[in-house]
Amino acid sequence: MDETGTIIEAQQRVAAEWIEVRNPYTQEIVGRVPSANKAAAEEAIREMRAARVHLTRHERHQILNRMAAHIEADADSISLLITSESGLSLKDTRHEVARSVDVLRFAAIQALIDRSEVFPCDVSSLGQARRIYTMSQPLNLIVAITPFNHPLNQVVHKIAPAIATNNKVILKPSLQTPLAAYRFAEVAYTCGLPREMLKVICGGSLDVAETLVRSDQVEMVTFTGSTAVGRRIAAIAGYKRLTLELGGGSSLIVLQDAELPKAVDIAVRGVFANSGQRCTAVRRILVHQSIADEFAARLAERCRQMKFGDPADASTEVGTVIDESAARRIEDNVEACLQSGGRLLAGHRRTGALYAPTVLDDVRLEHRVVAEETFGPVACILRFQSLDEAISMANHTPYGLSGAVVGNHWPSIQRVITELETGTVNVNEAPGFRLEWSPFGGTKASGLGTKEGVIEAMKSMTFVKAYSLPWDTP
Ligand code: NAP
Repeated sequence: MDETGTIIEAQQRVAAEWIEVRNPYTQEIVGRVPSANKAAAEEAIREMRAARVHLTRHERHQILNRMAAHIEADADSISLLITSESGLSLKDTRHEVARSVDVLRFAAIQALIDRSEVFPCDVSSLGQARRIYTMSQPLNLIVAITPFNHPLNQVVHKIAPAIATNNKVILKPSLQTPLAAYRFAEVAYTCGLPREMLKVICGGSLDVAETLVRSDQVEMVTFTGSTAVGRRIAAIAGYKRLTLELGGGSSLIVLQDAELPKAVDIAVRGVFANSGQRCTAVRRILVHQSIADEFAARLAERCRQMKFGDPADASTEVGTVIDESAARRIEDNVEACLQSGGRLLAGHRRTGALYAPTVLDDVRLEHRVVAEETFGPVACILRFQSLDEAISMANHTPYGLSGAVVGNHWPSIQRVITELETGTVNVNEAPGFRLEWSPFGGTKASGLGTKEGVIEAMKSMTFVKAYSLPWDTP
């Protein structure tokens, strides 16, 4: 069992109940965190609101870099912790930990940078002998709410930019995977972050998360999770800044001239990484009719060779999904597809929360398996005859997070980049490719168009103050 340390011990003194965390593969209890209630959420807001802290750029830079080094040095045990609470394979969680280290290092660099601007006022007949300057100031108190699918990296993507901009944060991680979040907070305190700048709190969402979201003492809610919960937050948050990073349904368009080994490789990574539980995971593989049979045969063959099973085995490629009920929903969506014209090429076996990597062919847009966000390791092949049809199929979804195209025909590639209604388009790479400080985020039901990624998140967590000074030119 994980001993998640002193924050939990401190909260234990007031907690009447506990949230137990189970390993989705073994069903063992791997840790527990105190369950807070509405009163505790209100108290957290009061405490954080009252705190007065200000770190210099140098201090923020140092803390973030120390956190990166700490997590890098402890990567094995942190990966194992995430694997134990999420069922994600060690291969996936090691990757996640490395990404989190990048987030912290990029935030450390950005903490040093001042983005002030200067506007000389002699540029207009209405001007004066003055200069206008800008400076960024922190918002003050931010609420961060995170999902289960990247238990550490989703948290780091909210807390690191908040530290870099001198904001205070109350973090409400997923009840299904809170252990990495608590471990991360301990690392932050150990590395010198004042406790008044970060508080982690867990509990029933109606009591805890909604109290935090509704509070008029909070300047911003940054949320990553499902579209349904994102819409609920938008409805109840009131007058405050919102970042909403929501569900996805990415398409991978495979053009007629695509190199098949490359296309299959991208599809495998795009569909199956993180057990298919990524907002950017490829949900529809749109393949030109002329190459679809060969593509499907190659993808099915690769899928049959994938090692799935015990997530803690370092050679496992695909671990479990988050729990048995999630695996059953995936199984049901696949079954419904097979009942109405879809063809099974590989997989579709379930034991508890473990669902075998699966390939379906002859999928149609109306099949639930692609019409909904089927959050698991299922590759769905849909065929197209023309680029117009492919683009229209890719856009036939409420989501607008990311997409990708594989091939070489530049006019087609350019049309895909321009016409996909998504926040990201990758060419000859999976939709999920990004750097941790490049802009990331979706449109339509995937988000309001505001971006994350370290730099954009820092902008969203600050406001720009303008001030002007007398200034005789030249
Ligand atoms: P979820 O069910 O929406 O939960 C996300 C977080 O919201 C959890 O901490 C959850 O707490 C909390 N929550 C639940 N009800 C709430 C309410 N009424 N008010 C405020 N907070 C509430 O999402 P999930 O199942 O954990 O994660 C999977 C989803 O996240 C997928 O749709 C995926 O596409 C999306 N996602 C999007 C991105 C992106 O960048 N666009 C990235 C990763 C994941 P509890 O644990 O208590 O339920």
